[in-house]
Amino acid sequence: MTPDAVIPLLRVDDLAVEFDTPKGPLRAVRGVSFQVDEGETLAIVGESGSGKSVTAQALLGLVPPRARVTGGRVVIEGRDVTGLPDREWQRLRGERIAMIFQDPLSALNPSLTVGYQIAEMFRRHRGLGRAESRRLATELMVQVGIPDAARRLDDHPHRFSGGMRQRVMIAMALALDPRLLIADEPTTALDVTVQAQILRLLRQRQRAERLGMILISHDLGVVARAADRVAVMYAGRIAEVGTVAEVYERPAHPYTLGLMRAVPAHPHTRDVPAPRDGGGPLVAIDGHPPDPTAPPAGCSFHPRCPFARDKCREVEPEPREVAPGRTSACHFAEEVMAGVHTDAR
Ligand code: SF4
Repeated sequence: MTPDAVIPLLRVDDLAVEFDTPKGPLRAVRGVSFQVDEGETLAIVGESGSGKSVTAQALLGLVPPRARVTGGRVVIEGRDVTGLPDREWQRLRGERIAMIFQDPLSALNPSLTVGYQIAEMFRRHRGLGRAESRRLATELMVQVGIPDAARRLDDHPHRFSGGMRQRVMIAMALALDPRLLIADEPTTALDVTVQAQILRLLRQRQRAERLGMILISHDLGVVARAADRVAVMYAGRIAEVGTVAEVYERPAHPYTLGLMRAVPAHPHTRDVPAPRDGGGPLVAIDGHPPDPTAPPAGCSFHPRCPFARDKCREVEPEPREVAPGRTSACHFAEEVMAGVHTDAR
């Protein structure tokens, strides 16, 4: 490493996660690599079952009971955290890396006031007293835009709207000044107006604190609004990575191309072509994702791919750089980017 090389906030190298199932091992995440820098938002998009949420769980040392990390490394601020004991993970979570969940109602304790739950972060992790913890909790509630924060401190979660509850979750996630934020579908349960407010708030806080953020989403509109770069996942692997503008304008993988073609283009608020005005979920492409316990030989997208040729059915494509800062796991990425449609089936 050169003396002035910048260490990325997060580096994931060749991550693999498997589940034990009665049908045999299910390879939920295979050979996933990416990095996130300070002040940057990387979105991970994909259909359900593509491996995006399992990847996020692995980054937090929280893979489900029947799953295990079977390969690769997770490096946070230059420290390899793969296989850390649970006690060390508990320290890292909140302090260095924090999570915002899709459903704040189930993440918050319904029997405790929101003020208590935010203040608890300071009491437990920082050993602060009751009055100081409450003061900091109020400050955080103001920062995330909860009106009349001092009074609302003593309300229980059910007295807050969905958008306000998500603001409480963001306050809790930011409480200990983490460097990396993972937001798993943070706006899926919210209506479009509240969704836009929450995305704006996340972006503001992230920029103010220079946080790195991973945004897990199945919604290409949300990604266009909130992310700098995007990693598209398919069948447990990363199909391609690039800036949002590049990937949306000139996909380097037929799966991404299919997603972009399936939704109408609209002008967009961040100078990025949005696939759907106001956001929208991924739209189905012909065929089905493969059975992860028995993926097809070669490229796992080949049964659905209009570009597939003999090589695709035999050789699994490795991710490779196809343009500066862009990788694609497709043998024929250059043709896809050039818009050459070769229906070889
Ligand atoms: Fe399609 Fe072949 Fe590329 Fe796979 S490697 S995405 S089957 S063209």
